[in-house]
Amino acid sequence: MASRYNVWRFGLLIRFATEKYEVFNGVFRLNSIHSNRLAPSRDIATRFATMDRVKHLLSGGYWWDSSRSCWIQAGAAVQKILLDDPVFQRHLGWVSPKKIVPGAVKLFPAAKSPPLAWNDTTASKHWLTENPPNPESAWRRGQSLTAQSGDKVAVGSWVWGLNAEGRSVIGRITEILSGARTLVTIEQFICGERPHPEFEWPVLRRPNGAEITQGLGNSFIVLSAGSIQFVCSVQHDCRLGKCRPDLSRKEMQEREETSRIVSLIKHADGDHFILNTIALHNFVRLSRVLPRPLIELKPLNENHVAFHKEMAAQARVN
Ligand SMILES: [Zn+2]
Repeated sequence: MASRYNVWRFGLLIRFATEKYEVFNGVFRLNSIHSNRLAPSRDIATRFATMDRVKHLLSGGYWWDSSRSCWIQAGAAVQKILLDDPVFQRHLGWVSPKKIVPGAVKLFPAAKSPPLAWNDTTASKHWLTENPPNPESAWRRGQSLTAQSGDKVAVGSWVWGLNAEGRSVIGRITEILSGARTLVTIEQFICGERPHPEFEWPVLRRPNGAEITQGLGNSFIVLSAGSIQFVCSVQHDCRLGKCRPDLSRKEMQEREETSRIVSLIKHADGDHFILNTIALHNFVRLSRVLPRPLIELKPLNENHVAFHKEMAAQARVN
């Protein structure tokens, strides 16, 4: 990957990897407001480039000193600013790590979702092991929970979890319950052996009858909240379903409806999905749970340096 060369040149990826972009929304808006608005995009780009330069200096990045003909970096006291000063950290988009409590559930407000008996829950219908909770016990529905990775996952999120045998399973969250214990009901999917013919990503389908009888999967499984590992990105296989734009709504801009109409895709089925394996988020975790052939990265160009030089030569001609 090209980032290897960038790391050699500019320093560790962690220093400029900002996965949490929320902080930048505020910075972006301020840049837009404090501008003469004649060329906002250019002004914002220049401002961000300047900020990145400061971030590069503060985080120990090197630059070429032409007077001494060597690469130099800022001294220890300057580098310490980024570690110690929360104001600087925030302005440069650095998000300090939050304390993660895996399995913690955020409940729906009691007025919206009052307590319910065990027998009225989805989990009770898919409980397979012994010792089900007391039928009379009271439960509250949760809207989200914290996975082991620290991801906030909600009903409808696609997640990887560990089943009772400790095997990794993937599925979509149907219900989150909090009572004497916290339980998550998952609509289970199976990862196909062969990647998608066009996207080359793993395909997800529902377990078939044979797999269910062999104990390899189930339509629904109930897991403890603590066994939810991490969130993943799953998309509908629209190519297979030949999904078409079938719905339309008005385009929104800054929370207001515009007169432009955008069309929405109506998915043909709810059974065939593709697992996105090139998302940066949780890439390492995903590569640990998937079989090696499904996650192997194929370089676009075997010889990166030759490709780089060829492109550079073309750019000079143009
Ligand atoms: Zn679709």
